Amino acid sequence: MVEEGLVRTIHGWIKAANRVAVLTHTNPDGDAIGSSLALALALGKMGIDAQVVIPDGLPDFLRWLPGIERSTTFAYKREQAIEIIEHADLIFCLDFNDPKRINGVEEFLQKSSAKKILIDHHQEPLQFTDIAISETWRGSVGEMIYLFLKDVFQEEVMDKEIATCLYVAIMTDTGNFNYASSYPEIFHIVGDLMKYDLEKDRIYSNVYDAFSEDRMRLQGYCMQEKLVVLPKYHTAYISVTEEELARFNHRKGDTEGFVNIPFSVKGVKFTALFVEKKDRIKASFRSRGQFPVNKVAEEHYHGGGHINAAGGDSFLSMKETLGGFESLLPGYSKLLKDD
Ligand code: 5GP
Ligand code: MN
Repeated sequence: MVEEGLVRTIHGWIKAANRVAVLTHTNPDGDAIGSSLALALALGKMGIDAQVVIPDGLPDFLRWLPGIERSTTFAYKREQAIEIIEHADLIFCLDFNDPKRINGVEEFLQKSSAKKILIDHHQEPLQFTDIAISETWRGSVGEMIYLFLKDVFQEEVMDKEIATCLYVAIMTDTGNFNYASSYPEIFHIVGDLMKYDLEKDRIYSNVYDAFSEDRMRLQGYCMQEKLVVLPKYHTAYISVTEEELARFNHRKGDTEGFVNIPFSVKGVKFTALFVEKKDRIKASFRSRGQFPVNKVAEEHYHGGGHINAAGGDSFLSMKETLGGFESLLPGYSKLLKDD
């Protein structure tokens, strides 16, 4: 994955580094956290002080991951997070293509004179690092870190803990191999990870069977009361207000995955989830097949992402946001037509 010339350069930077910071995107998911912890653990094994900085809250279903003690959340431990970035002589940026995706951390990344390396799979990465390793066709950065460790680290560093983090990254960014995973290499990688005593079924359960009763009831409420299916456009969407979230004692990450549920309805190829936050409405989009949700996110929601998973923000009221969403569907009707 990493070109030979670059391998030497990066290897040199790692050897010379005393302190390394690994940064990942806001509202981090399994790929963001799993990839970052795997890289930090691998660097740690080489005797390097490597710390992960997360812009904001870590969802509960990822707290059990090995190496989590190497992470610091900027939103809660600002001074400590800034110190990690300021003292780093090498910074890795994982799973984002635009420095805006790290919110307040961006300022400190820009100010730092450390060497910077991007490892990412989002479309059209911006140039904000010294080296960018971008493979947009891969399902996860987890795979990229697996290959990076093989290419760049000259000693064998893989172990059960690193393999667990990488598996979580790959599993979550492919919806447990439901999408973004139709190529042989991903299974070769997973096959190799299995050799490290990977507890695949326990990992699945830790991530997907770890919700609260409140979350289950919120899900039931959303499906019963808030799901809108528009068969004409093969589209379904769900919206949740702050008040509704509060009613179900919402915790961060509770609406994670809701956006995928309407695919169970026959014919649905485009789904959206609108979650009201203090200052905006967070939109998540998913599709099956060729419908490019990243275009919808870019064109209407100041966002972006991948062809089948993207997101953005709306600064209108919930009512206006949903009206706006429905009114943009006719413009995509050709792309959403029957096939
Ligand atoms: P989610 O819907 O899970 O929040 O995000 C799905 C994917 O969409 C993310 O992995 C990321 O690639 C992209 N994404 C989500 N929100 C934003 C956003 O506000 N801006 C951009 N550029 N991409 C986003
Ligand atoms: Mn990812």
